[in-house]
Amino acid sequence: MEQAKRSPVHAQSVEQIEQHLVALGQPGYRARQVVQWLYEKRAQSFASMSDLPATLRNALEERFAFSDLESVRVLGSGDTTRKYLFRLADGNLIESVLIPASPALYGDVSDRRTLCVSTQVGCAYGCKFCASGLDGWSRNLHAGEIVSQILRVEELSGERVNNLVFMGMGEPLANFDNLMQAVGILNAPWGVGLGARHITISTSGLAPQIRRLAEQPLQVRLAVSLHGATDAVREQIMPVNRKYPVEVLLEACSYYTQHKKQRITFEYILIEEVNDRLEDAAALVRVARKVNAKVNCIPYNQVEGLEWRRPSQERQDAFMGVLSRGGIPSTIRREKGHDIAAACGQLRRQVIGASGASAGASAAAGAA
Ligand code: SAH
Ligand code: SF4
Repeated sequence: MEQAKRSPVHAQSVEQIEQHLVALGQPGYRARQVVQWLYEKRAQSFASMSDLPATLRNALEERFAFSDLESVRVLGSGDTTRKYLFRLADGNLIESVLIPASPALYGDVSDRRTLCVSTQVGCAYGCKFCASGLDGWSRNLHAGEIVSQILRVEELSGERVNNLVFMGMGEPLANFDNLMQAVGILNAPWGVGLGARHITISTSGLAPQIRRLAEQPLQVRLAVSLHGATDAVREQIMPVNRKYPVEVLLEACSYYTQHKKQRITFEYILIEEVNDRLEDAAALVRVARKVNAKVNCIPYNQVEGLEWRRPSQERQDAFMGVLSRGGIPSTIRREKGHDIAAACGQLRRQVIGASGASAGASAAAGAA
């Protein structure tokens, strides 16, 4: 059976699997058995689902495929952050980063194991400081490729992920339907079973999609990559600001907060002389107050070939001082994975080179 004609099985809800089984004249309850094999027992093939009749296993095999994420490279780092580079069935490369015990990332629980996942190959939004956007956008990930990142990392690391952030490569809200399908499977008790409050979606500020997300029933958390609290600053580094200026973005943030009765987080990368002046901090205080947001500052992670710099410790401290005196709940992310190029899109770029090769198969060949 041809791969292309089969749908990714990790992209299906239990209801969708059930519908398919019923159409085949099979009892619907078998769908529960299938998802139990997929998410509880972590089966790697239909053939291994030993309590299903052989005819059913064959029928499933004809209709569905396992998402095939080939582990190309795993990089560890001094602080135990691990970065996984995966090759997709079509040769494209994506990355996921496992960050054990990360108090600065959405919480203070010390046994937190956060996984940062990708939602697209490349990114169309072209933020000037980001490695993911440098070669443009190739394609959306389907829900099965998103879900499989968690399954594969858990399999490879032997650890259970209990916190998920959509902060890898790509703009999650530009792949809205696949994102929501994946979140549904990740959250479902029959699926991965991650609580919605342990799932954070990060966006560069797609205002209409933020509103759409606000209308979804799940209590997922929202992080907005602000990086500039005025149009003048934000426009310099984020082209998306021309489409959705700060004021429009803030209105969408308020809408989210009101609908979800939940606080959002502003992500704010500190880049020397671009957005780290005291007046930038004061503007950030005003904006965060307006929508009652928390602020998470991230000292800029150097990207090869880009001129942006991380501010000195003194400048970082001065910036944080203004936020704290302004009464804004704020954290500055502790160094995680700096030595393994953990910022989004960086590892993939090292492997495929800066030439923009999309498949990367040859460049990645031989990597452990
Ligand atoms: N596209 C989404 C999610 C992926 S980026 C978004 O932009 O929010 C996840 C986070 O990593 C964003 O806040 C992004 O701005 C940040 N980031 C990108 N490049 C970085 C770098 N070189 N150093 C530190 N953070 C970076
Ligand atoms: Fe895309 Fe986010 Fe990188 Fe901007 S920061 S280019 S939106 S991945």
